[in-house]
Amino acid sequence: MNTQKSSYKVSIIIMSDYLSMSEAKKNTTMLRSQFQREAETHGLRGIIGVVAFSDVYNGLMDVQKLTLQSLAGDHFQPLLENGCIVSFAYVYPDGVVDKIGHKKDGLIDKESWNVYARWYTYLNEALDATSKNLAETIDGIPITATASGIASLVSHVSEYFSMVVSHRVHAEKAGIGWRGKNSLMINPRYSCMIRLSGIITETPLIITRSSSEDCGDCTSCEEACTFLQYRQKLEDYREQCRIYLDNLGLDDEVCGKCIKACVYSPRLAIKPEMSKVQPLDDVYYTHP
Ligand code: SF4
Ligand code: SF4
Repeated sequence: MNTQKSSYKVSIIIMSDYLSMSEAKKNTTMLRSQFQREAETHGLRGIIGVVAFSDVYNGLMDVQKLTLQSLAGDHFQPLLENGCIVSFAYVYPDGVVDKIGHKKDGLIDKESWNVYARWYTYLNEALDATSKNLAETIDGIPITATASGIASLVSHVSEYFSMVVSHRVHAEKAGIGWRGKNSLMINPRYSCMIRLSGIITETPLIITRSSSEDCGDCTSCEEACTFLQYRQKLEDYREQCRIYLDNLGLDDEVCGKCIKACVYSPRLAIKPEMSKVQPLDDVYYTHP
């Protein structure tokens, strides 16, 4: 065996790993700076992380695998081998979730609840705009924030699954939060006061760590919603949820009582303070 040749090959591999790591670091730093500027443009706080494309693909329902595959098009195979998904969220401004389910003189105050509904629309628009801009920077493909106006158009919630790629799957794996008992993404700093979006890309980026937290013995959201409380007995509580929020008739397809319950749950104390330096393998929080 030619030991000189073999150590030369190892050196080349180490050097190429080093170069791709340093490229990933440079790209991640640039991505974070642009995300910071995007969040400032929209007047919002944000969170951003990165996960391997294959991890997300393998974690999706079969019907959503096909949606992701079709979104990736000709890039699907290279993405499966080396690609990633940038997962990011915008945070509702303080006070907005307080408006959910607000009552006046014992009756539901829809005017107040609609403040939350309109912010929901605004966050989705901001996510879509940011997704498009970041995708241009990193040569990626945006995944739409949400399929809006769908609740009243489908006859069952299951019809919705083929129309979207679950943002919760990539957000959970990228470390934006953990999957709560209300099925939403729970961020340790902002609870589920967030909305999610993502971008598919072949640009090398640093993968962020997933969260090791969970809901523990908290049941606040279940106490706030009968469908959640009895979800084990219901055929699909998400269908009851769809019918409920469609009938609520707010300015967008929302309810949000399980979000409000979580924000004020004893499990979570919202900590808006943030350090200036955030490691590249941790999710990044924009500065307010
Ligand atoms: S959005 Fe409303 S109906 Fe749906 S699970 Fe949450 S609290 Fe229940
Ligand atoms: S309210 Fe409690 S149980 Fe429900 S999602 Fe939030 S932390 Fe989890």
